[in-house]
Amino acid sequence: MHTRAANLGTETAFSVLARAAELSAQGRDVINLGIGQPDFPTPPHIVEAGIKALRDGHHGYTPSKGIASLREAVAESLHHSYHAEINPDHVQILPGGKVVMFFATQLLGEAGAEIIYPDPGFPIYASSIRFSGATPVPYSLSEDKGFALDADDILSKITDKTRLIIINSPANPTGGVTPRAEIEKLVHGLTKHPHIYLMSDEIYDKLVFDGSEMTSCLSFPEIRDQLIVLNGWSKTYAMTGWRLGYGIWPASLAETADRLAVNTHSCVNAAAQFAALAALTGDQSCVEDMRQAFQRRAGLLHHGLNALPGVTCAAPTGAFYAFCNITGTQLTSADLQSRLLEDYGVAVISGTSFGQMGEGYLRFSCANSDEAIMSALARFDTCLRA
Ligand code: PLP
Repeated sequence: MHTRAANLGTETAFSVLARAAELSAQGRDVINLGIGQPDFPTPPHIVEAGIKALRDGHHGYTPSKGIASLREAVAESLHHSYHAEINPDHVQILPGGKVVMFFATQLLGEAGAEIIYPDPGFPIYASSIRFSGATPVPYSLSEDKGFALDADDILSKITDKTRLIIINSPANPTGGVTPRAEIEKLVHGLTKHPHIYLMSDEIYDKLVFDGSEMTSCLSFPEIRDQLIVLNGWSKTYAMTGWRLGYGIWPASLAETADRLAVNTHSCVNAAAQFAALAALTGDQSCVEDMRQAFQRRAGLLHHGLNALPGVTCAAPTGAFYAFCNITGTQLTSADLQSRLLEDYGVAVISGTSFGQMGEGYLRFSCANSDEAIMSALARFDTCLRA
């Protein structure tokens, strides 16, 4: 196989989802706490806007960057949330937030370059960095720091080959939220390296639990010329299957990113863009309702996991995951993942799916009902006492 193709990794959550579905099809009772997608339906007013767009005849291509009204609505919503001044020309609507990380790594990575990324972190960061030909340089997120990033540690990894640094808060898989002071320190440090770009994955920005605060890199104008922001509708509005996301690009990359879109997907599904517009401009109470449900379930997982033998769990502060420490069970993460799914019908993800630093951890998603979470915890307890 061509070496670049051989470098492509994957996202274990999708294979665990497939295996869970296979077991369910065989009649097994499987509780899925594996995949990271809201279990709520897309709010009805958003669905209606998508249907109306189709009825109104929005069947054709749209501008490659996305319809103007949607790009303006994204800029306005970011102004509302973070007082950020965004030129709608720098907003790119994409088929999923994930595409921003692929475009950023392919535009900036190449053989000989280095890209710094979090471990444990979303698995597609390392995969797409390798695919670009660049060398992935991990920085660790540790439990004793609440899984927050350490700005000094990241800055110490910069070399003359560094092109891009990736950060993610609130984070997948840890549920950690990085405090403002640490992000500010990183931003400040990076302004001294104006040739290095920063990609801030803010896909969970609306899922921050009481007591924590979301810090968007968009609230620091001094980094705008180096900043790429990844965000979208998947997690905030329960729209994973619509395939919608957006990138905020610095002026220096906006046109090239658009050219990549023209070379790949041409534009995002037209009706989905109208649904996205309704999501941003409509009633936001659905976002708060879902946030509260995730917060409640994260609390259930946190307390339940801490009561199990050999398991400890830091309190999740955002996103919708509990990342529990299983080193006291004397089992590896992969063993426990497989034992829980195959023998006890509970789908969760091994910490090692998110990088080497994930050994000793399992990721539980809060995207299931309170009852399902309680049953999964009871099954995990049985598994550990067997
Ligand atoms: N970034 C992180 C950290 C994620 O966890 C995900 C999805 O799981 C994404 C980006 C991509 O989201 P989407 O492509 O569905 O918008």
